Amino acid sequence: MSLDKNKTDKELGLMISDYLKTKGVETPKIEGHKTDKEKIAVIDKSFKVILETLGLDLSDDSLKDTSRRVSSMFINEVFWGLEASNFPKITDIDNKMGYDSMVIERNINVQSKCEHHFVEIDGLATVAYIPKNKVLGLSKLNRVVEYFSKRPQVQERLTEQIYYSLEYILETSDIAVLINAKHFCVKSRGVEDTGSDTFTSKLGGKFKTDSMLRTEFFTMIK
Ligand SMILES: [Zn+2]
Repeated sequence: MSLDKNKTDKELGLMISDYLKTKGVETPKIEGHKTDKEKIAVIDKSFKVILETLGLDLSDDSLKDTSRRVSSMFINEVFWGLEASNFPKITDIDNKMGYDSMVIERNINVQSKCEHHFVEIDGLATVAYIPKNKVLGLSKLNRVVEYFSKRPQVQERLTEQIYYSLEYILETSDIAVLINAKHFCVKSRGVEDTGSDTFTSKLGGKFKTDSMLRTEFFTMIK
């Protein structure tokens, strides 16, 4: 999925950002400090310096546009979730049918970057909730996961950001967020462990307090 500027909601993005700050889980960032165009120009220039410092000859055909490609990729494809104005528009529906069981969305793609090394975090998320007054279009769960993935991240914070955003939107704490991901900074550098992955979870409300429900949940997602 890529960013569709017609399906964003800045006002909601700012409210969620404020809510995340009260929970201590917002990404340390400065909101709206530069336009996308300004950011692309600065990153282009800076990445050129990195490439030259590495000793690459930027007059070569294959390398001459790399810094421009990287800068536009950062802003338009990889890190657009840093801007509140790119938060997805969420259509919620009143829960008129009184649905009170679990809604589970499994295998949501997580493509993010580790904020310590700026290399790939590649994984899957499962998001579940028990509707109170509102139900969401299912793809909206994917959109929220995607939005927070499009930032430099640590997996623990990503898990919490998804959880608290949904808590704000759905007006309930009966939410579960699980992420299982491979970190390429573990795979390709440092300990160079190619097989390991990282599992994080945030369980709230009944998912935390009701052990029968929790067992049912883990059985269902197996
Ligand atoms: Zn890392």
